[in-house]
Amino acid sequence: DTYLNQNYSFDNFIEGDCNRLARSAGFAVAQRPGLTSFNPLMVYGGVGLGKTHLVQAIGNYIRNHFNEKVVMYVSSEKFTNQFINSIRNNVLQDFTDFYMKVDVLVIDDVQFLSGKEKTQDTFFHIFNHLHQLGKQIIMTSDRPPRELQGLQDRLLSRFKWGLTADLQTPDFETRIAIIQKKLQAEGIFIENDVIEYVAHSVNSNVRELEGVIISLMAQASLTRREIDVELAKNTLRNIVLNEEKEVTIDTIQEVVADHFEITVADMKSKSRKKESVYPRQLAMFLAKEYTDLPLKSIGYHFGGRDHSTVIHSIQSINELMGSDPDVDETVQKLRSYFK
Ligand code: ADP
Ligand code: MG
Repeated sequence: DTYLNQNYSFDNFIEGDCNRLARSAGFAVAQRPGLTSFNPLMVYGGVGLGKTHLVQAIGNYIRNHFNEKVVMYVSSEKFTNQFINSIRNNVLQDFTDFYMKVDVLVIDDVQFLSGKEKTQDTFFHIFNHLHQLGKQIIMTSDRPPRELQGLQDRLLSRFKWGLTADLQTPDFETRIAIIQKKLQAEGIFIENDVIEYVAHSVNSNVRELEGVIISLMAQASLTRREIDVELAKNTLRNIVLNEEKEVTIDTIQEVVADHFEITVADMKSKSRKKESVYPRQLAMFLAKEYTDLPLKSIGYHFGGRDHSTVIHSIQSINELMGSDPDVDETVQKLRSYFK
């Protein structure tokens, strides 16, 4: 498995002033992987601006046009977890061999490697090996390389060997085009004044824009109303109100329990059944990520467990994320509720 998501393509990546350079560099790399001077290709930009979409589009294009090439997409978080697991299980060699055999390595969100010295050492060797063989390396980061603190200088200097291109916040015209494309894909027609109203009001990033469009469609079908400016205003007002809510441990427990179709009481209970242990561990993992609560207090909220149980849960989820794609996918999905 290459962990590429087929839904991301160049066809559904809207081009605009905000992303033109990154997109065309990406397309050049997709057409001639390893043969352009854009190696590595480093795409950076804030959250929700299309980094993952673009690099996955490159990966998909290569996979569809070059049958023989092995394309591997991995998030840096997952790469780190796999690395840690491989050490624990004494199979580090297999891990490095695996990555050294790919033709195209896409590694997402490298800022996550910050401070992880051993993971960086191994990535450094993999990078050198691939680069020397003329294999294509594609990376993303939430900031420009020079601002990546906690990354080794020898890595940063290699990141600059190729091309660094940024994704910027979409301009008004691009936002309009994105909304139109999205609606078209859903087979929905909306008057221009509504589209413009939304494009004016939502100007932070594409993920948020998509969220608003989805809410808008949901509102319209729930209330059996046409999507007009009035409805758009109401929807946006609700979304803004929702955003101000901070993520509490109660919300996390509810969302995770809902997802696994168990009750919050099950989650807090003493039960050691698999059906409740895994959701419980996941909820603890997310509580650590999204709240400022100390481990002891997280344990307290889960039926009075002690802090070592919380630590164990977090470790166990981290391990599973590295070894089981389903777990990784579930974590990403649950996270998307809190962002
Ligand atoms: P990032 O990785 O930078 O946080 P994503 O690639 O996950 O952002 O993009 C967030 C959402 O916005 C995705 O659903 C993606 O398909 C969409 N998106 C981002 N940029 C574009 C674009 N230029 N055209 C169409 N959709 C886009
Ligand atoms: Mg991303």
